[in-house]
Amino acid sequence: MSGMSPFDETHDAERRHSTQRLRSGTMAEEEDRVFGALLGLAIGDALGAPLEFSPVRYGSTELTGFDAALWKKEHYNRFGLKPGQWTDDTSMALCLADSLLARGGFDGRDLRLRFLNWWYFGYCNAFGFDAERPVKHSVSLGGNIWLSFQEFVKHKTESGKEMYQRWILEDFYGNFYRKLEKYGIKQPRFMDQIVRNIDWASHSAAVYLFGAWPEFYHRYDAPDEREMEWFEKKYPGWYSHFGKFWESYKRCDDPASGSFILKELGRLPGFCQVCQFPWIFPRPDASAGRRVLKNGKWVGFCSSACEWIYNREPDHYRGFKGFYDWCDGWEFSDVVRDLGYIRPDGKTLVAQPTLDMKRMWTVDDLKACDYIVRSPMHDDPVITGDRGDELVSQDLL
Ligand SMILES: [Zn+2]
Repeated sequence: MSGMSPFDETHDAERRHSTQRLRSGTMAEEEDRVFGALLGLAIGDALGAPLEFSPVRYGSTELTGFDAALWKKEHYNRFGLKPGQWTDDTSMALCLADSLLARGGFDGRDLRLRFLNWWYFGYCNAFGFDAERPVKHSVSLGGNIWLSFQEFVKHKTESGKEMYQRWILEDFYGNFYRKLEKYGIKQPRFMDQIVRNIDWASHSAAVYLFGAWPEFYHRYDAPDEREMEWFEKKYPGWYSHFGKFWESYKRCDDPASGSFILKELGRLPGFCQVCQFPWIFPRPDASAGRRVLKNGKWVGFCSSACEWIYNREPDHYRGFKGFYDWCDGWEFSDVVRDLGYIRPDGKTLVAQPTLDMKRMWTVDDLKACDYIVRSPMHDDPVITGDRGDELVSQDLL
């Protein structure tokens, strides 16, 4: 195992020391169990690896043992591993173990960076030091985690839609989940909607995350011209739906502009009582959001799917306090103060609308924009779920 491990080269002395203590049986019991658990995981994973994604065939006598031929057999060993090489399951466990050791506890950011290095540079994978394997970047279902790394990559290779189709719909759903249908597992109720919304849902989520940036805690640049062209190429029609938002966003990123993007957009959308997402899906200009009268009270839903969930267990969701229950009528800098998203200097906001370090937004800049949160739940026209998902609600952005 150590011949292919991240400990190789970087911590040679420590590796030798650990190997020696493992062999001589002088490890403390706890340490011994940790090594045993990780080693057991790697061995079990490596033995099962050539069978991953192969169909289950009860009663089949095709395989009788683990001879090396199995790794070369047609329809097996999908990722071209060698006997002894483990899959993403062990790699990601090793990343987690490294992160826990290095940080002394769970640190999501550290772990995420380790996963990033795992996927792109072979950190903790079984073939990072395998001279015969030309491509070192990682493989397997852990690739779903990789989907979320695309934001770090300047030169993107695939769109989110293409990756979703490949990894989620074909790989996970098509090759794994659908095989369980013969055992009575049914297609998820709203699968067709998910597939239909694949084009725009992530772009709409970006509008939410960037549009309300001070109440989050991230700091990203808006897509530049090259990226916008790339979006248009991958999602024809993208610019006509989202271009205006990004142009406005960029006009408002400097506090000296005196403009706050939410103010430019005008009214806010409603929020879903079940998932707490805003009514901007699948697309802000064609939202399935609605408010529905339930027991004499207006309740907001982002989609018929969330309304269906609510109806199954209304008591569970009735008491949820959403965004407007909390801060309807507040000036926006008070919302951010209440969240505590202000840096230790007591004025600079944690989140910023750009990576530009020149002039950062402060809570006073936000206050000067004088943007008041106002719930659309009191407004006319009334939107009800009776009109169905296919009907477009009012243009909220
Ligand atoms: Zn919802």
